[in-house]
Formats: sequence, structure tokens, C-alpha cells
Amino acid sequence: MIRQQAFAEKRKMLKGGLHIHTTRSDGKVTPEESIQYYYEQGYHFLALTDHRKYNYKNFRPDLPVTVIPAMEHDCAYHYAGYHTVCLGLSKEEGNGYEQDVRLASEHFTDEESLTAWRKKIYENNNISIYCHPEWSGTPARVFENHTEHFAMEIWNSISVYGHDIDKDASYWDEILGQGKVLYGVAADDTHSIETLGKGWVMVNAENDVKSILDALKNGAFYSSCGPEIYDFYVDGETAVVECSPAAKIRLHSDMHPTKVERSADSSMVHAEFKVTGYEYVRATVIDGQGRYAWTNPIFLDGRVK
Ligand SMILES: [Zn+2]
Ligand SMILES: [Zn+2]
Repeated sequence: MIRQQAFAEKRKMLKGGLHIHTTRSDGKVTPEESIQYYYEQGYHFLALTDHRKYNYKNFRPDLPVTVIPAMEHDCAYHYAGYHTVCLGLSKEEGNGYEQDVRLASEHFTDEESLTAWRKKIYENNNISIYCHPEWSGTPARVFENHTEHFAMEIWNSISVYGHDIDKDASYWDEILGQGKVLYGVAADDTHSIETLGKGWVMVNAENDVKSILDALKNGAFYSSCGPEIYDFYVDGETAVVECSPAAKIRLHSDMHPTKVERSADSSMVHAEFKVTGYEYVRATVIDGQGRYAWTNPIFLDGRVK
């Protein structure tokens, strides 16, 4: 049996926001208010990812919310945007970025310059998420060989509410289908209160920065806009999904077309799919209100990042 890492070891599932802007850059909500609003919605950890401006600081130490050192780094590449959320440990633990130093906005037209730019993120001991590909106008071929990203955004609340894009794992299967291990993250990209708390990750970790980052890198999480997922595994030739009441459960894989189970009264909490000969599988749960949750993939040869 292969169980997706989010459900492999029973620990508390922590709710987290990995892409949040505040008044430190172009967000409308202060860091203090942002942490409070997310705390009130049950979040355990947050990354304040202001544009090209790193943050280590917990602006609300009175609240039991873990702040992950982070920023959103970006450049332009040809006609497209190239945005990444960068996450790391503390400065004492080797993070190379400085608090509040605003980095330059650059425009590249050759792959070598973009590669050098990306390398600096990893030299500074950060891990990265490729952000909002549709909003940036980047098809998978722009970033599919940039395998240092541990994840890509499969839902970005501001892109969904503002532009009706980046809402259901665009391009993800193109990359997974090539055998590349890349995890999927739902995030708000919060700039104002309207898109706060619409998409998040549920991470199987202890509530400290190192444990959360390790779990993210290992794919020990799922993403959601509402539904909960309790288990996802492949036993023999059967993939099994356990979740909160759902209207539809889909199984995505390297085989086409996608499979789907339906429940007329939105009460399905379990689904099974035959997966003979598949290389990878992942599941999407859709509840009666049309809200999504996504598992990360299981590679049937046991591969992980
Ligand atoms: Zn962005
Ligand atoms: Zn952003």
C-alpha cells in the first residue's frame, strides 16, 4: 500500500496560509490585522510574502500563530511574469535574506539570467513555490524544467476572484505526466480582506517552522477551499479517497480521461478507483457548494521529491 504523505503518519493537521501581502508592500491589511484575521479563521501558521521584501517578524506574538520566514520574489521573463513564494528558516539557521530590504525588480530575456536569478533563492537556503501561472501568462513549458520549486500554485484566490483563472490546478498534470514530482498549493495571495481565507494548505506537521517546511517539501499536505480530506492511498490496484461530504470526487492521472464519482445529495465520503497500470494519481474533492480540495500526487513507484 502507498499512502500519500499527508496521511502517512497521524499528527495534527495544521491550517496554513503561504501567500499573503500586507501594507509592507501593496496589500491593504496591516501585518497585525492580517495575522489576527487568519487566526480567527483557524489558521495555525502564515507566511507574510510581501513583494521582494523578506519577513521574519511575528507582528502578533500575543497570538498562537507561527510565522514562516518568507517573501514573494518576482521578475519578468520575456512577455510573462515569473513569481515565486520563497520560504526559509531563521537567519541564525542560514537564511540569507535581510528583513525589510527591498530587492530589485528585474526583466530577463534569456534563460541563463533567469537561472542565475533562481539560483540565488536556493543559495539563500530558501525553498520556492511557482505562483499563479495563468495570471502570469506562463504555460507549463516556462517553468516545467525548474525542478527546484517544491510546489506550484493550483489555486490563487485573488486570480480566481479577480480574473476567474488559477482555480483548478491548471498545467499541473502536464508536469506530473512527465514524471516530475511537484506538489500543489492553494493560496490567497491576499491583497485585501475580500480574498482572505479562501484557499489554504493543511499540513501534517508539528507547529514549528522547521517541521512545517519539512512537511511541505515532502508533500505531507493537501490544499483546500473548503472540503476536508482524511485519507488518500493506493492499495494494490485501487485508489481510495476518504473526505468530508462531497458532490464529486475526481481521480486525475497520467491516463486519460479523468475519472469521476458523483453523489446527487452531496453526501459521498468515500470513493474507490481502479488504477491498473497508472504512474501517478491525485484526487480532487468538490463539495455541494462547488468548493474544491486537492490531494497531492501518489507516484505508484513510491517516488517522492
Ligand atoms: Zn505574484
Ligand atoms: Zn502575490
